[in-house]
Amino acid sequence: MVDNGFSIKETDKRLERLGLVGNDITAILVTHEHNDHVGGVARYARRYDIPVWASHGTGAMIKEIKSLQCFNSHKTFNLGGFLIEPVLVPHDAREPTQFIFKANDLKFGVMTDVGSITQHMVDVLMDCDALLLECNYDREMLLNGVYPESLKRRVMGDWGHLDNRQAIELLERLNVDNLQYLVLAHVSEKNNSHDLVLDSVSRAIQCDRAWLDVIDQEQGLAWRNLTTNIKSNETLHA
Ligand SMILES: [Zn+2]
Ligand SMILES: [Zn+2]
Repeated sequence: MVDNGFSIKETDKRLERLGLVGNDITAILVTHEHNDHVGGVARYARRYDIPVWASHGTGAMIKEIKSLQCFNSHKTFNLGGFLIEPVLVPHDAREPTQFIFKANDLKFGVMTDVGSITQHMVDVLMDCDALLLECNYDREMLLNGVYPESLKRRVMGDWGHLDNRQAIELLERLNVDNLQYLVLAHVSEKNNSHDLVLDSVSRAIQCDRAWLDVIDQEQGLAWRNLTTNIKSNETLHA
């Protein structure tokens, strides 16, 4: 499990939709200490006796969690059958990391809560087989929206969040030909719309809108299967 901002009851409900229970969770990885990512971690870990993993900097912010273990954010480590590569990212937290998961010659990247694109992000996300990517806001909607000025500046800043155009810029710098799934996530309910995300991303990478997944905050996302033998652009442009 990566992050958890939900109550125990809500988490159980969401896992049940995926055919899982709390005892199935091997570990909870925490990307950073913001409440939407860590708010539910301590109680869920305690309830089901789950180890929690975070960078040393994030760990210092959540050190009340008894089962906390820290990883070196410059080193890959093994957990639950995955090789996990932490990716340090520019975001306004203590030592925020996103993750690359590798198994069976497949590579899955998770990249949310980043204010700007770094060469390091481009290097490590290259040639993913699946990618979960933040499309947090549409610039016009944010500028004309209800957020106070200080919050607008924070979100748009280099340590805030990716907007739709930045997400597209990142995709254009990556090789997306191997992608079996592109999941667009951390989409603001106030400053973005699923339609805008689908329109702009599908146009930019020339794929069908229906091929993309946008995570709905209520519905979440069902399982996606990655296959090892598809190594061409046949899924993206199918
Ligand atoms: Zn967040
Ligand atoms: Zn955050």
